[in-house]
Amino acid sequence: MKKENVIEAQNLTKMFGDFTAVNAISFEVKKGEIFGFLGANGAGKTTAMKMLIGISKPTSGKANVAGFDVFTNAEDIKKNIGYMSQKFALYDDLTVKENITFFGGIYGLSRKQIKEKSNNLIEALGLEEVANKLVGALPLGWKQKLSFSVALLHDPKIVFLDEPTGGVDSITRRQFWEMIYKAANQGTTVFVTTHYMDEAEYCDRVSIMVNGKIEALDTPKKLKQQFKVANMNDVFLKLARG
Ligand code: ATP
Repeated sequence: MKKENVIEAQNLTKMFGDFTAVNAISFEVKKGEIFGFLGANGAGKTTAMKMLIGISKPTSGKANVAGFDVFTNAEDIKKNIGYMSQKFALYDDLTVKENITFFGGIYGLSRKQIKEKSNNLIEALGLEEVANKLVGALPLGWKQKLSFSVALLHDPKIVFLDEPTGGVDSITRRQFWEMIYKAANQGTTVFVTTHYMDEAEYCDRVSIMVNGKIEALDTPKKLKQQFKVANMNDVFLKLARG
């Protein structure tokens, strides 16, 4: 593994019976990079991500994440990454503070660390007024921002975000992306799937999956040049929709 890389995948493949959901994908992601992982519904993004975070064994190929092999060191990968998806965020029936304490505990932080991080996080997100309110009562955008911060509690090397802004309004999405930039500037690698093409423009590099294969991978600027179009939406349409 090259020193600057935090993810390396080589011919990574996942089959379900005869069906190849992820077909020999190869790519590298560098430290601090914001890597967009795009594809139409069913292209294989979630399946690929599950292999990278160590919860699904690849059928074949190789992958190293945060310095660990997905076949032999999946448990170490889990300790070194953060994960957030649109579907599973936080516990609605715990308060903001209780959620932070709960997840801090899961990540193995000490009581002192949890207290410090919890105060900093609540202040940074401006959640002082609702710190003792149930998360279920918060607007979706706040939940997602809190959920992202919780995924970073243990200072992971890489944070995996599976459609983190689904259903969130455009102002909150913009704020969410400011948080992503901040994390990346501090050296956290961000691996993000999205269906919003304006968000694809915010990524350092973008890969586009079609039917299990990575059909394009480059900076948004170079992809637009390559496909001779003005925006990422048109790149996506040309590739994903043929
Ligand atoms: P979306 O954007 O809708 O989340 P995706 O790109 O994440 O889509 P995947 O969820 O990875 O796509 O699914 C890729 C393909 O693999 C789909 O055809 C899906 O039906 C299939 N698939 C996923 N998981 C399984 C499974 N456990 N068994 C059989 N087929 C599966």
